[in-house]
Amino acid sequence: MELYDSTIREILGRIEANSPRAWPFEAGKAWPDNGVNELVLTRDAAFELGGGSLPASNCTCVTTDGSLVPEDRITLVGPDLGAIRADSPFARIVLLHVNSISGDDQEAFRTIRDMEFVKYHVFPQGYMMRISPENGREQVRVGKQAVKRGISFRNIGDSFIKKYKENKLIDHVHIIFATGDRALCRELADTGKKVDAITMTLNHIMDGLSTDCSICAFKEVCDEIEGMKELHFKKGSGPMQL
Ligand code: SF4
Repeated sequence: MELYDSTIREILGRIEANSPRAWPFEAGKAWPDNGVNELVLTRDAAFELGGGSLPASNCTCVTTDGSLVPEDRITLVGPDLGAIRADSPFARIVLLHVNSISGDDQEAFRTIRDMEFVKYHVFPQGYMMRISPENGREQVRVGKQAVKRGISFRNIGDSFIKKYKENKLIDHVHIIFATGDRALCRELADTGKKVDAITMTLNHIMDGLSTDCSICAFKEVCDEIEGMKELHFKKGSGPMQL
């Protein structure tokens, strides 16, 4: 089953159409990490990604199809951190290629959730992330000192990928940043909501709740995403095939 694959294809198509820049993963280029979230005060900030009411989102998609994430890569659409002069729209997307996940459904689902929680364990110096699980927003306050020292999305991407690769189930990571283009970032935020809806539906399924589709709040997602209904009705009959 490939629950997120159609969404991944949609994201890649949208990004490719916007003249992205890309870099391979280099662990040595990861930005210094504080180990804990650093407070960047407003007076010390150069700008905020996704500040105020600007689009600001993140999402994580997992696949077992290696052709969708064939290598570790950082992609950027829009200006890099050193070229941004004011608050900017923002989106961050992570695509993960995982090797086979064994165990029962619950264990497989927990493994996927652990992968998503990496975003709470990356603390680049002068790059203060504020992530809201309720509305899917991710705002980042970037410090003036960090900009002076040359922080870039390539460095931040390397930091994330380095953390993800501590998990041996992850083969490849593609991290995508988008800035500057409000319409594109809004579209990517909408895609992030769709990804959240898939994950919430998975939650519902793994909690073993109602299997009556006619009254289920997740019917719209299950009608659209291939394999979701099969997962619910087969739940518990064997290892979950992502
Ligand atoms: S398969 Fe049916 S009951 Fe299960 S989550 Fe989807 S719509 Fe709801």
